[in-house]
Amino acid sequence: MRALLFDIDGTLLVTDDGGKAALEAALTDEFDLTSADVSISFAGRTDRSLFSELLERNRLSTSQRNQTRLSERYSTYLPDVLARRGGEVLPGVIELLDKIVTQPDHLCYAMTGNLEETATHKLNHFGLSHYFQGVFGGDHDVKREDLARRTAAELRNRHGEQHLTEMIVIGDTPHDIRCGHAIGARVVAVCTGSYDRVTLESENPSAVCDDFADANAIHDLLTAT
Ligand SMILES: [Mg+2]
Repeated sequence: MRALLFDIDGTLLVTDDGGKAALEAALTDEFDLTSADVSISFAGRTDRSLFSELLERNRLSTSQRNQTRLSERYSTYLPDVLARRGGEVLPGVIELLDKIVTQPDHLCYAMTGNLEETATHKLNHFGLSHYFQGVFGGDHDVKREDLARRTAAELRNRHGEQHLTEMIVIGDTPHDIRCGHAIGARVVAVCTGSYDRVTLESENPSAVCDDFADANAIHDLLTAT
């Protein structure tokens, strides 16, 4: 059995910076700020690492209590922000997932820096949840590599080490590629997020795709033996 570990933002869908907008509103309201400073790099990072840096940048304590307050307020705000801002599923994604789910020896999971709750909300919002066996999110790990290690251990436990023959990480940032390498997985990188082909290739993924528009070709790449 092969597990396909899909990143969400920039890989399956885009939210027109909905996550960033919801975090900015959550920070401002939860901590009574005049305006929150959210000028940090978001792509490919776990929400846990983002919360900590955002609190620090706004001169707030990075205590567990503050991280929980920010996380809870963010989870509350995200659905409305997503509904208002729109966003879209990226080209070819539905066709690709439709093809993969017909193969019982290939299981799709979401492995994302998003919190599990907000990742689940995004997949629901865009009608993609039914393709995925589960979501591994960035609730616990600052480093994406640690998220991948935790995911790999859980999948081996869930499916049995002898049955889980391969994992493939699919993502749009250098963080996705590095976390795939950390668990010895093949990595298929896609240029639909904020990184170009040259940058992604410099991290040595197994393959780089411009996008998933040619769903047949991507399906063949992910399911080739
Ligand atoms: Mg991404």
